[in-house]
Amino acid sequence: MKIETIAIHAGNHTDASSKAVIQPIVMATTFERDADGGFSSGYQYSRSANPNRTALETVLAQLENGAEAAAFSSGNAAGMSVFQSLEPGTHIIAPDDMYHGLRNQIKSLFTGILEFDFIDVNDEEILKAHIKPNTGVIWIETPSNPLLKITDISKVVAVARKHNVKVVCDNTFATPVCQNPLNLGADIVMHSATKYFGGHSDLMGGALITAQKSDWWEKIRNVQTMGGAIPSPMDCYYLVRSIKTLPYRVKGHVHNAQLLAEFLDKHPAVESVMYPGLPTHPQYDIAKAQMTYPGAMMSFTLKGGEEKAKNVINSLRVFTQATSLGGVESLIEHRASVEGPDTKTPFNLLRVSVGLEHIDDLIADLEQAMA
Ligand code: PLP
Repeated sequence: MKIETIAIHAGNHTDASSKAVIQPIVMATTFERDADGGFSSGYQYSRSANPNRTALETVLAQLENGAEAAAFSSGNAAGMSVFQSLEPGTHIIAPDDMYHGLRNQIKSLFTGILEFDFIDVNDEEILKAHIKPNTGVIWIETPSNPLLKITDISKVVAVARKHNVKVVCDNTFATPVCQNPLNLGADIVMHSATKYFGGHSDLMGGALITAQKSDWWEKIRNVQTMGGAIPSPMDCYYLVRSIKTLPYRVKGHVHNAQLLAEFLDKHPAVESVMYPGLPTHPQYDIAKAQMTYPGAMMSFTLKGGEEKAKNVINSLRVFTQATSLGGVESLIEHRASVEGPDTKTPFNLLRVSVGLEHIDDLIADLEQAMA
């Protein structure tokens, strides 16, 4: 089935007892045993499994064409579960441009437990040179946050396979509507479900989807259920509900993003635009080959430095100045301020999550703010 159909049906079933067409929310933390002590319903205790989480994991697995999915209380909890599942001393290769919250998690919580290098994973020679006998995972994020760098997923997978290394891809910016890393050979896909899956800036969630079941996946499952960083039944319900409109929302976001990027690209106040849908993007060809759509996140730098950037952001009326992304409302942020003192992000850079307002209103707002 096509993604629009999967998004609507895979996470939902008619309730057997009431015939309600939408699956009910099961708030129970515990489930009744059978007379013989068994659990014929398949449920025992909600940290291990809950019907709403099962529904969410079912649709997530199908959206990414995976064997199984595990849902978490946030994107960072999903990432953390991957790192916690690795043997101490495992070496991780991660990109030089990636979500700063996960980079900080690796550096602050796993120093002395795991080894890591942050490199340009898209440069094959650099990548090969950094693989060591204890390298276990190459972590990629494409498009990357906040510079919208594209990593050639198949190329990284080919190098990883030769060295028996696993590839995990953070697919948050792309969503399964724009890109399916498992189809390109990645072993696990990670998402911050807080973003496009939730889609309305009102819940936190995370997900991992595996290409195939394995001993490693079982360890990740154990981290999920024993560690307990699970989403509530309510959050699972809302995610399943929002995912039903994901394909159409993402296509709307992409439509606006392409037009906004083209507008910014021509504007005299703008120094550069980072958007994989523009032919001027240095990895436009890779993006075109591996993505169905170029996504709806972009960054741009302004002539006039940090002062001009902050001036623009404070003059906007439709865009909200806030971090995060993937909601129906357009958000804009001065990324270097969000990332903190060790940021490498240019100080004249603004990151935009393009929403679903009318594109004319978004362009008019930026036009007046940049004037
Ligand atoms: N990965 C990317 C690309 C992100 O942008 C974010 C959050 O901004 C995360 C992971 C972390 O997700 P969460 O905030 O849900 O923990």
